[in-house]
Amino acid sequence: MSLRGFPEEVRDWLGTNCPPGVRGKRYGYTGGRGARIGDSAFTEWFDRCVERGFTVPTWPLEYGGAGLTAAENDILTRELRAIQAPRPLLGMGVNLIGPTILEFGSQEQKSFHLPRIAEGEIRWCQGYSEPGAGSDLAGLQTRAVSNGNHYTINGSKIWTSGAHVSDWIFCLVRTDSNAPKHEGISFLLMPLDSAGISVRQIDLIAGGSEFCEVFFTDVNVPKSNLLGEENKGWSIAKRLLQYERFSVTEPGASGFSLVVGGVDEIAKSYVGMADGRIQDPVLRNEITRNAMDARSLDLTIQRIKQESADGDAVNVTTSILKYYSSELTCEEDELRIQAMGAASLGWEGPGFSDLELSSTRKWLTNKAARIAGGTSEIQLNIIAKRVLGLPD
Ligand SMILES: Cc1cc2nc3c(=O)[nH]c(=O)nc-3n(C[C@H](O)[C@H](O)[C@H](O)COP(=O)(O)OP(=O)(O)OC[C@H]3O[C@@H](n4cnc5c(N)ncnc54)[C@H](O)[C@@H]3O)c2cc1C
Repeated sequence: MSLRGFPEEVRDWLGTNCPPGVRGKRYGYTGGRGARIGDSAFTEWFDRCVERGFTVPTWPLEYGGAGLTAAENDILTRELRAIQAPRPLLGMGVNLIGPTILEFGSQEQKSFHLPRIAEGEIRWCQGYSEPGAGSDLAGLQTRAVSNGNHYTINGSKIWTSGAHVSDWIFCLVRTDSNAPKHEGISFLLMPLDSAGISVRQIDLIAGGSEFCEVFFTDVNVPKSNLLGEENKGWSIAKRLLQYERFSVTEPGASGFSLVVGGVDEIAKSYVGMADGRIQDPVLRNEITRNAMDARSLDLTIQRIKQESADGDAVNVTTSILKYYSSELTCEEDELRIQAMGAASLGWEGPGFSDLELSSTRKWLTNKAARIAGGTSEIQLNIIAKRVLGLPD
């Protein structure tokens, strides 16, 4: 397909519609109540992207997308990066459940949910993990009992990010307790204001958190909210995890960002310079290697996208990308901490600059990248079994 004229068209559109005030900013709406950022330039940017279909560029026009091909979307991504425009819409709606509904949803589910996601109207959260089911996700116990035209749900979820500010939850539930554990699971979509659902935030040692527990007590959910077939939810769950893992490897697509800001410049200013370079040769070498690895990963992702003939770069190999990008992110954070020394170890107070405080928080927050969406060890297991074909 010819892309002639498309880069120019996108550049023109961005020139007219991306307010200078948002460029260089690293935020985006996650959708739903309470998620709007109180910044008029960003709101303008967001609204224009919604109008043009650029919150979900590859989705069909009828669902609020721009109908771009993978190659066109690549161009859009490059042009956005070139002017440092933030992604307008982030989160589980656009990155996780949206593509999954697009792939597995009924016509009614697509028509109802996708435009609401594209317009940032609804914020979604993920009800996968349970107190006894994290890495061993298929061991989940939340039960859905068939009752005429609805299911009745009892059980609980944990580590549900953002449930306290979300509108809907997608959930894995057990619909057959006698079947082998992977074969008795179904995938349900539920409004969080359903009678019988309660959400409790989990306080972490550092204070509040985005993490929640979600409790289900005799919650009735219509069977029309089942995604795919009853007891066939496990393959949909795995597919969604591929979308999740791919999304965290794309720069700017999630909170776990590969680029956390100028480690090279930070090292120059904290460690000092000699001959225009970072003074400490070992640190300089490590920073250069990390930057080269990050660049290689970025190019690999671009190559994977270009090579996938049907435009679907999301498959089992996303475990490699997720594993490697979280390792690089954590490594870069460590290097920044190393360069800043004790200055990077403050939590609050006037003795530290904003950069130093945010550096500490990034360092600690990004460690979660090795756990969320499946731990690094689990990614290595998947790579060994499903990519390399090694025996169990
Ligand atoms: C920032 C963040 C956000 C999250 N958001 C959500 C969310 O929104 N919704 C949700 O459902 N969940 C969420 N989670 C939970 C996350 O999916 C789980 O924490 C993760 O799957 C690990 O499960 P676990 O915590 O129960 O650890 P466990 O499964 O108990 O694992 C403990 C340790 O044992 C290792 N391990 C376990 N099994 C194996 C094995 N077979 N081989 C090798 N090593 C193994 C693990 O790698 C880990 O190091 C989030 C987690 C984080 C950190």
